Amino acid sequence: MSERKVRVRFAPSPTGPLHMGGVRTALFNYLFAKKNGGDFLLRIEDTDQTRYVPGAEAYIIESLKWCGMHIDEGPENPGECGPYRQSERKEIYRQYALQLVESGDAYYAFDTPEELDAVRSAHEAKKETFTYNAATRMSMRNSLSMDKEEVEKLLAENVPCVIRFKMPTDREVTDTDLIRGNVKFQAALLDDKVLYKADGMPTYHLANVVDDYLMNISHVIRGEEWLPSLPLHILLYEKLGWEASRPQFAHLPLILKPVGKGKLSKRDGDKLGFPVFPLEWQDPKTGDISRGYREDGYLPEAFINMLALLGWNSGTEQEIFSIEELCNIFSLERVTKSGARFDPEKTKWFNHQYVSTLDNAKLVELFQPTLAAKNVNVENIDVENIVGMVKERISFINELWDQTAFFFEDPTSYDPKVVKKRWKEAVPGYVTEIKEAIATVEEWEASKIKETVSDLVNSKEWGFGLIMNALRLAVVGGGFGPDLFEICQIIGKETTLRRLENAVQNIQR
Ligand code: GLU
Repeated sequence: MSERKVRVRFAPSPTGPLHMGGVRTALFNYLFAKKNGGDFLLRIEDTDQTRYVPGAEAYIIESLKWCGMHIDEGPENPGECGPYRQSERKEIYRQYALQLVESGDAYYAFDTPEELDAVRSAHEAKKETFTYNAATRMSMRNSLSMDKEEVEKLLAENVPCVIRFKMPTDREVTDTDLIRGNVKFQAALLDDKVLYKADGMPTYHLANVVDDYLMNISHVIRGEEWLPSLPLHILLYEKLGWEASRPQFAHLPLILKPVGKGKLSKRDGDKLGFPVFPLEWQDPKTGDISRGYREDGYLPEAFINMLALLGWNSGTEQEIFSIEELCNIFSLERVTKSGARFDPEKTKWFNHQYVSTLDNAKLVELFQPTLAAKNVNVENIDVENIVGMVKERISFINELWDQTAFFFEDPTSYDPKVVKKRWKEAVPGYVTEIKEAIATVEEWEASKIKETVSDLVNSKEWGFGLIMNALRLAVVGGGFGPDLFEICQIIGKETTLRRLENAVQNIQR
């Protein structure tokens, strides 16, 4: 038998912004596809019209692009199995629901929402939960409990009805999950799920199985929350006669909160101050804005690297992986069964690793929007050199400005703590003498400036540390930054002298 071509899909519902757990699901699908020379599909599961959120699909696509996951087939670049939005595939599903009715594996149910509410309430009053299943279905209004003629009449009159799956009572459904191993379910404990709704739309279960079949999906890799749906899906493949082309399933572990029990939620992010979405999102209804990793200054490479290690490991000590490298070594065998704890501090660490090793030209490109917003004239400034000098000190692109502003602008204030500690009474006099001395330096180079300052400090016995801290405060406005003489060389003689003078005039002890 020839090996089946690997085809996987990421199948989000456009009900809001994509959570980072969703991005991880997409990533594991993508990596698995690339590792196995397969295709990565994007299918938009938008059959639930009541939960549709405008902008969510575009957000999902933009997020995948930002992360560097190329979609082989999807709504924007359809392949042969389109359309890739379930709302546009509406006509496809009905025949399969009818096929199941025909074979006796599904049935029409005419119970109105009010009738269903009434049975539920009656059960609740008796402290019971109502389940539409083998035990109750014969007391409900459906094509199993009603006369054939009556059913036909209702159908002919187009009375609203749904199609439900007739869950067998005598079946144990088993499967070998590629992550969890053998899984087993008793069908008798499951309910008769709606497959096809009164509005002419399939439910998630039917649409998902039909599309995976028609799109020739070989592996379904999805979140653990879908494991309870697995027996129904397996039975659907069986009853539709598609067992031979049924995909293999892999259910990914949950992403856990940084502390405590349970699944990572948006609330954890709000509470502990980290984003849970890849990109910033504005809720179209409330206008509320949720933070995104991109806008918070994370690099997609770092974000992806962090996500890859949430539930997967290479089996080595290595922690830094490029997406290409991950595509070569990823395997489902190394995905863990137990939940993976999210660590926001480690996420920052990953970003630091990437930001501090980014090449200078790329850093300048990412810095450009800030420079433009600050109206900085960089015409005669070697910005590449500047970012190169500070990149070790930053974890986020948006820290670049604070670390480099003094290269572009004179300080407008002086860090009061540093002033208190370093700007001793005699200092303004020393700084004035240093200013006069370095004004004579002809070749304005770090080493020459340093030599002049050192000679003066030594001859006057002022103490090098005291002077360096004072000069730094005058030039930078605080107690930080790279080599001071290099800063002086870059900002130029005139600017250096002006800053020393300004400091002497303006710093109040
Ligand atoms: N539409 C489902 C979701 O939103 C897809 C689940 C699956 O991959 O089967 O996650």
